[in-house]
Amino acid sequence: MGFDRGLAGWVHLATVVTETAESPGYQNDEGAKNVLDDIIIIGGGPTGLFSLYIAGLHRMKATLIEKLDRVGGQLEHLYPEKPIYDVGGFPMIRGRELVERLAQQAGQYPTRQITGQAVTGIQQMPEGWRVTTDKAHYDTRCLVICGGIGDFLPRKFNDPGIDSYEHRGLYYVVDRLEDFRDQRVLVIGGGDSAADWAMALADIAQDLTMIHRRSSFQCHADSLDKLQNAQNIHLVPNAELQSIEGTDRVTAVRITRDRVRTETWPMDKVIVAIGLVPGTMAFRSWGLEMQGHELKVSSTMATNLPGVYAAGDIVTYPGKVKLIASGFGEAATAVEAARDAIKATLA
Ligand SMILES: Cc1cc2nc3c(=O)[nH]c(=O)nc-3n(C[C@H](O)[C@H](O)[C@H](O)COP(=O)(O)OP(=O)(O)OC[C@H]3O[C@@H](n4cnc5c(N)ncnc54)[C@H](O)[C@@H]3O)c2cc1C
Repeated sequence: MGFDRGLAGWVHLATVVTETAESPGYQNDEGAKNVLDDIIIIGGGPTGLFSLYIAGLHRMKATLIEKLDRVGGQLEHLYPEKPIYDVGGFPMIRGRELVERLAQQAGQYPTRQITGQAVTGIQQMPEGWRVTTDKAHYDTRCLVICGGIGDFLPRKFNDPGIDSYEHRGLYYVVDRLEDFRDQRVLVIGGGDSAADWAMALADIAQDLTMIHRRSSFQCHADSLDKLQNAQNIHLVPNAELQSIEGTDRVTAVRITRDRVRTETWPMDKVIVAIGLVPGTMAFRSWGLEMQGHELKVSSTMATNLPGVYAAGDIVTYPGKVKLIASGFGEAATAVEAARDAIKATLA
């Protein structure tokens, strides 16, 4: 896994409780017990991990609950090897390395991480909230929901003829950049994810074509500049994947251009980066006010429920940008607001 066992202790078990207990906060024998937390963080993506760090910094009794077997959110599960260029302080860092650093940062303080448990509901209690997972329940004064996009479900073509090539040359998730070495690669999509994959593979692939069904690419201007100037990257707007050809693996793609003519291009690999399907609707049943697929929050990241805050991709407010960097800022705001609320209650 590449993680420092001493800091994080990730192992593949149904539920893993990890705590650091050298100083006040969590003590060793409390690791698996239900104690009253100051704060429970739901979701172990970058926003949740940074929230845990901020909570530790304030010496709050904090627990992070992540439903998957490993923390890291989209970075760990969707793009561990992709370079990230827009996190402050790192000119470039890969997804998994940023997760490792976030885990190290959070691991400095005596907090608790529980992986392999999905939070299924919350219930108001006299002292705060009871958080129910698929395996246990935990009590807390405050909550920060960092559930991101809920599940990691890449948007698919829903065309059996195309989707049947998954794992045979068609990729919705890229785990290893090396799989693309000296290959002819097609990247489908016009946004930042598609552009990032194209740039990450430019020096690895033999030849890379990026198509988008619209007339212009929506990625960052700088990315577009780099793509346009790369030797072996071809940008083709107004182009749509019609079908894939091959027997046991992809050998060619049929592309419709300008909605009128169809061409066949020899191809080895196809990466589809046309977005993710949001899986956050379960949060509505918790009594949380939502706008579309996101939780509505105030400028202190407060939701409509008392003591319940949210941060990261799961929130919306005017001007919200879904980036790792904005999640970090929101995490700090949410945890500090929770700390102030607890202080006011206990005063
Ligand atoms: C291909 C791709 C490339 C990207 N590149 C960049 C980039 O270069 N720069 C950038 O800034 N952003 C990038 N992003 C966006 C970035 O990944 C997100 O903004 C970021 O991951 C949001 O972090 P988060 O912690 O809010 O949510 P997530 O990363 O989605 O993490 C949420 C976590 O909550 C967990 N969870 C959900 N529901 C529950 C529950 N009920 N109980 C317990 N746990 C739960 C999930 O399992 C998940 O681990 C990219 C996204 C994609 C898909």
